[in-house]
Amino acid sequence: PPKLRFAPSPTGYLHLGGLRTALYNHLLARKLGGKWVLRIEDTDQTRYVEGAVESLLRTLEWAKLDFDEGPGRDGGKGPYFQSQRKEVYDRYLEPLISSGKAYHCFCTPERLASTRKRLQKEGSNEGYDRRCLGLSKEEVQERLAKGERNIVRFKSSNASMTQEDLIYDSIHYDSLPLEDFVLRKSDGLPTYHFANVVDDYEMGITHVLRGEEWLPSTPKHMQLYDALGLPRPKFAHLPLLVNPDGSKLSKRAGDVRVEDYIAKSYEPEALLNFVALMGWSPQSSASSPPPKDSESAASAVPDSDHTDVLPLHDLIAQFSLEAVNKNRASMQAAKLDFLNRAHIRLKLDDRSEGGGRAELAKRARQILVDKWPALAQEKSTEESYVVRVVEALKDRIYKLLDIPSLGPYFFSAPDYSSALATKLYSGVSPEIYTSTLSKVRDLVSSLPDSAFEPPSTPDAPSPVKEALDQLVLSHPDGKKAAKEIMMPLRHALTGQKVGAGVPDIVSVLGKAEVLARLDSGLA
Ligand code: GLU
Repeated sequence: PPKLRFAPSPTGYLHLGGLRTALYNHLLARKLGGKWVLRIEDTDQTRYVEGAVESLLRTLEWAKLDFDEGPGRDGGKGPYFQSQRKEVYDRYLEPLISSGKAYHCFCTPERLASTRKRLQKEGSNEGYDRRCLGLSKEEVQERLAKGERNIVRFKSSNASMTQEDLIYDSIHYDSLPLEDFVLRKSDGLPTYHFANVVDDYEMGITHVLRGEEWLPSTPKHMQLYDALGLPRPKFAHLPLLVNPDGSKLSKRAGDVRVEDYIAKSYEPEALLNFVALMGWSPQSSASSPPPKDSESAASAVPDSDHTDVLPLHDLIAQFSLEAVNKNRASMQAAKLDFLNRAHIRLKLDDRSEGGGRAELAKRARQILVDKWPALAQEKSTEESYVVRVVEALKDRIYKLLDIPSLGPYFFSAPDYSSALATKLYSGVSPEIYTSTLSKVRDLVSSLPDSAFEPPSTPDAPSPVKEALDQLVLSHPDGKKAAKEIMMPLRHALTGQKVGAGVPDIVSVLGKAEVLARLDSGLA
């Protein structure tokens, strides 16, 4: 059965590129009906970053990328931290040493450095002169018995090799450089190359899906599989994520750490959608037959903005390695905001128990309470109220964190003395202002409380909206109607020029609050 893995090294916080690798592994595993493993590659203790593993687990959980096996999810192939698997690697290393496919090297770091320099000067692409390959068995035993510091090297071969890849074209090497790369370091832990190959075999990995930066390591891995007598998995390398100018992805293009996006309140579904589209695009042609004449050709141009909005289950359904682009993908930060707004809308419509709508309500409430702690006990921060605010603001906000600045009036009375409010007020004549507010006051008083309740279905007519529409229609001057009614009303209710639609504001605030604000406006 297909089995994939995401194998990060805890050398820092997860970046967008890492999230994309995890996601593509998830997508392909689910697509193929297989499983995926999370394996922590922590054998380089010098590069270990405190807190990186915790952050990684938190991030994957946030993203709802649920691995089948890994830390805390035993699948019988653990432990899933390479630093805890030393015996496993030694078990694979011993036969390589006794059969002469690997050897102990006692050279000092100083000698290795000067050798490397000399070989480089001589124009050789080899890193080591194989001095210790010639040591007799007796000498090796003696020096090991004395506890002399040593590493174990792979006896590489320069035979030709063809590297197949499911994404890149195959690469043929007429001869490989004799690198005799290290398998076990002097601290007794394996190198990345050795641990990676052993574990991919031990854990039953069938597809190795990883970043382009590992492409040059693959010939080493293939040689190791061959030397160990193990079948090679299939390889697929993902093109690098870059800045729009082609340089290595950095903060210049926007945030790179996933945790920064979490802190900014982006929806996990939107961020996954965003990284999914970096280097892959849904094959719209597969589902729609080719157009026959020129007229339908024009209408068949996919509305990319719409078809690109894909929650995880749709990504799984549509994903394929064939559609992964071989070119490096650059990050278009603005697209994320667009996707985020679209995913907020999708989630608002998901009214299932604990579904998208409930989740938005919970998170939006938390954002509001963090912003205004005094509101924690108020009715205006109850989830049922908060979610109506999200709904009312869905055309305005890009992310939940925008709510406090774009809709403060849902949570506290407007400040009529603010510069914004004053300017808005000065745009209407006092007579019109007063007469409008009194008319609306009468109207609102006449509506039953139930008119302000959330609609029973998303498209149910809103009694408040109908009443206000009526008022606009009955205005003697059709051209001025909207302005002369909505501007004063917006001022009295919000103190802001822009915001949610006025009828939505009226229904969400509710009868008592609206009357109170109209009275303040009239005072
Ligand atoms: N530990 C490597 C990394 O940090 C994994 C490379 C691979 O997937 O083989 O990306």
